[in-house]
Amino acid sequence: MDQESRPKISVVIPLKNEQESLPELYRNLVAALSNTGQCFELIFVNDGSTDRSGQVLASLHDQDHRVKVAEFSRNFGKSSALSCGFDLAQGDYIITIDADLQDDPKEIPRFIEKLEQGYDLVSGWKVLRQDPLGRKVLSRIFNGVVRMVSGVKLHDFNCGFKAIRKESLEGIRLYGDLHRYLAVMIAHRGFQITEIEVEHHPRRFGQSKYGFERIPRGFFDLLTIIFITQYSYRPLHLFGGIGFFSGALGLASLAYLTILWFLGSRPIGTRPLFIGGVMLVMVGVQLLSLGLISELMLKLNIRQEPTYLLKRLIK
Ligand code: UDP
Ligand code: MG
Repeated sequence: MDQESRPKISVVIPLKNEQESLPELYRNLVAALSNTGQCFELIFVNDGSTDRSGQVLASLHDQDHRVKVAEFSRNFGKSSALSCGFDLAQGDYIITIDADLQDDPKEIPRFIEKLEQGYDLVSGWKVLRQDPLGRKVLSRIFNGVVRMVSGVKLHDFNCGFKAIRKESLEGIRLYGDLHRYLAVMIAHRGFQITEIEVEHHPRRFGQSKYGFERIPRGFFDLLTIIFITQYSYRPLHLFGGIGFFSGALGLASLAYLTILWFLGSRPIGTRPLFIGGVMLVMVGVQLLSLGLISELMLKLNIRQEPTYLLKRLIK
């Protein structure tokens, strides 16, 4: 274990197949962090690289003990890589940065400055994003939608470059593709977030790890995040709400048909409205039951974690 004092800043770098970028990234990080005058550590999380990234990292570690390397047994995705880095980080301040040299470490002091002003999360905003046009358009739409549904006012949710105060990460587990919503989760827990404009460079080596499959995946993740942030403690409100609406509509249709039947208009059993009404009632009952089951699961799980987050305790 290190003889020197605990690092103040932990940089977490998730990477998959970035062998060409790593040496320069390391040099730039060390240069930028030395300027802060703080003790730091660099945590590289090798997310199942199949190139020589592992060897490059091992030799960086041999030269510099501030370099720590976590090797995954296979590719688990960027969210898991970040999560692992957060678990290992010892610093009060955590910086996340992509390994592909698109983010520039020289911005780190500006991130730290914001944390020192009291913010809990500082998100980068790639004002002039250096990626293909299609990606930029998609990202605009994505950011607009997330801003709207989450109510969190950021321009660039998916920026890999962030600074986070360690306490604000407690209890957060990133999995799947949820790293894109880290700022939403932290804001939703009552922490203060802000953004700063950052420079962005084109990718010089290797290729982007994400293609167009990120659209449908992003959509489902968005549903997950709405659910997690708004309804995880009251699932019946969501399911019950929609179920009630559907059931009521179905019952109203059936009541209307019943009245017609009594008034002598038959047969009603073959009318589309009849089938529709029956379907709506069934869907309503199903959703209500789903909501109740969710509440039961919540009741069982709730014992394991507190349902609140303390900012301070004065005793
Ligand atoms: N990355 C990772 N695991 C993955 C995919 C990507 O650790 O499964 C890393 C990648 O090496 C890079 C960062 O996540 O450091 C961002 O990935 P990329 O540059 O491909 O995304 P883009 O900039 O195109 O959005
Ligand atoms: Mg990139």
